[in-house]
Amino acid sequence: MHVPFCRTKCRYCSFYSEPIAKHDEIDVIRAMLTQMQQYKIPDSIKTIYIGGGSPSCIAESNLFEIVTAVKKYCPNAKEFTIEINPGQANEQILNRLRKAGVSRISIGAQSFIQSELNFLARSHTVEDIYEAVMFSRAAGFDNINLDLIFAIPYSDLDSWKQNLKAAIESGVEHISAYALTYEDKTPLVRDLAAGLFEPICEDTDRTMYELAIDEFSKAGIEQYEISNFARSGFECKHNLNYWANGDYLGIGPAAASYLQGQRSVNFAGIGKYIEAIKSGASAVELSEILNERQRACETAVLNLRRISGIDLAEFKTQTGFDAMELFAEPIRNYKKLSLLDSDKQRIFLTRRALGIADSILCDFAVV
Ligand code: SF4
Repeated sequence: MHVPFCRTKCRYCSFYSEPIAKHDEIDVIRAMLTQMQQYKIPDSIKTIYIGGGSPSCIAESNLFEIVTAVKKYCPNAKEFTIEINPGQANEQILNRLRKAGVSRISIGAQSFIQSELNFLARSHTVEDIYEAVMFSRAAGFDNINLDLIFAIPYSDLDSWKQNLKAAIESGVEHISAYALTYEDKTPLVRDLAAGLFEPICEDTDRTMYELAIDEFSKAGIEQYEISNFARSGFECKHNLNYWANGDYLGIGPAAASYLQGQRSVNFAGIGKYIEAIKSGASAVELSEILNERQRACETAVLNLRRISGIDLAEFKTQTGFDAMELFAEPIRNYKKLSLLDSDKQRIFLTRRALGIADSILCDFAVV
């Protein structure tokens, strides 16, 4: 469920979201619930994820309208995550979310250093992050994620260590850590082009990433995907399905779906989205059916993001292809560089490869 609103726009963000103050959120929410009803949602749906945007910036009554409706449609979901921004969910709301069946809270912390939050134009304080964790715990959540960003301009290894320490000491079960990326048309990229700051150099970026893997591991929070770390048993089931190239259904403006080899994206503009739903039409703007080979390539790229990599037997059952044969050339090339390895059961990236995974994965995207 993509809730397409934010209170303010963060400097680096390229996700589709609209300023909440300029829209009547209820129209979009009702359209989202109608879109959900257009699908025959099977009882077997295993996970729910309400993200955005910032679901926590909408009115409490509207948030609960979504939560209650989704829960009713997916009664057997084993994991139900909602994203909150620090400073936007108080103890009472978190208590209500827990009682309504939400099982996992994902907190957009990004940094425990106020100057870094200011640089990113985040709308919250460091104190708000601690409060969000505390309120979530008090409400009974035993599965909490924190998002962190590294390689922020003006940061260094010491400030990153401080962030890692704070994240570990917060006691959360799951951490997602991403390098700051420079996405087209964001204020961040415009300011970079104007020479307002220097980006962090590649070597420092890489060292920060390596530090995260080591420090989290020492704390019992193991890496299970390129950017994701969890205590045992707290790996995010919803995201594991993405990396397995499983089916998913996206509801809301700009939300993406992948159902039986068909990839689709909903209208991004709120107006067009609501109009399509109100007229009884589909809110899907673009869709594409992948052929079997494309599906296999996509599965490999996603599987290789997992530390466990491609499970050869699972891959064969899912795609009909033998991964060792289909990807013989990139496997051979990257093995020579010690960036990839394989055994009888799987193909996986080596530790050296993880920091440059994107450039390796493109060679599996088309074969
Ligand atoms: S809160 Fe999240 S979705 Fe909204 S602008 Fe910031 S990064 Fe983007």
